[in-house]
Amino acid sequence: MHPFTLERPRDLAAALILRAEAGRNDAPAEYIAGGTDMVQLLQEYVRRPDRVVSLAGLLDDRIGSTQQGLRLGAAATMADVAAHPVVAREFPVIAEALLNSASPQVRNQATMGGNLLQRTRCPYFRDIGYADCNKRTPGSGCAALKGENRWHAILGTSEACIAAHPSDLAVALVALDAVVELRGPDGERSVPVARLHRLPGDAPHIETTLQPGEVITAIVVPASPAARRSHYLKVRDRASFEFAVVSAAVALEMEGERIKEARVALGGVGTKPWRAPEVEAALSGASLDPDGLRQAAALAAQNARGYGHNTFKIELMQRAIVRAVETAGGRA
Ligand code: SF4
Repeated sequence: MHPFTLERPRDLAAALILRAEAGRNDAPAEYIAGGTDMVQLLQEYVRRPDRVVSLAGLLDDRIGSTQQGLRLGAAATMADVAAHPVVAREFPVIAEALLNSASPQVRNQATMGGNLLQRTRCPYFRDIGYADCNKRTPGSGCAALKGENRWHAILGTSEACIAAHPSDLAVALVALDAVVELRGPDGERSVPVARLHRLPGDAPHIETTLQPGEVITAIVVPASPAARRSHYLKVRDRASFEFAVVSAAVALEMEGERIKEARVALGGVGTKPWRAPEVEAALSGASLDPDGLRQAAALAAQNARGYGHNTFKIELMQRAIVRAVETAGGRA
């Protein structure tokens, strides 16, 4: 592990100043909250900051609900959010995404904000023994393009990076039009979760639209009939503690036997949490007839590109959408 100074500021304002000062001195700094991802990155020399600024105790960890929706403090843990009765009842896609993530131990420690900002599981990014990784070392190439890319993305890729976004929670939140509240050196602002993560383009090392030093302070999820009838389907290589090969977050508002409104987001297939508006449009007004669902799901694959080991995801993604819509549609 690269040696670093652990800063423990007394409040969030002091943390922002510390982080900003570190930037000015050209001494890289990182925030750390739950630490379930950051500690791994530090241990493996993937991140080598001179200063680590602890956010422990500085961020809201409350879970609040009103008729308008849900407000999750950034420091709320995955376990507490998943177990909250309002989340389970009114936003099942969130509870299911969380319960299908990581292990109980990790869920007890990992925070909402940190979950959204976790780094990709691309093995070439995580192993500094591989020199070619544009995300870790800009301009060095991409070992995954011609390497083992079974876990990689088929949507939103570029010649510079094909890493899949890892967060299940982010996929559920994108489907529900959630927003993150941010605080940084220049004040506060809000950003839809759908615009929090960037496509890799030719700069895959810049993963989010956060400004330098900004932190996520809360997540706001609007209530809706669709949120109540929602489902997260995760396909993975083993039953627990595994990232998605493919996942689908679906939220439906039904009118009798027909879908009035559908929201569909995908995980494991995109370089960012992937909303599928063309599928949603095709599902609007449709019944749950399997043939119709398959035709709608096929639209998600229009711009998909396989890289060899991961080409099977193009078909699997469509099947996951169909299954998730059937499950959500069957919910009361
Ligand atoms: Fe690095 Fe992205 Fe290529 Fe993985 S896919 S090796 S993260 S550049």
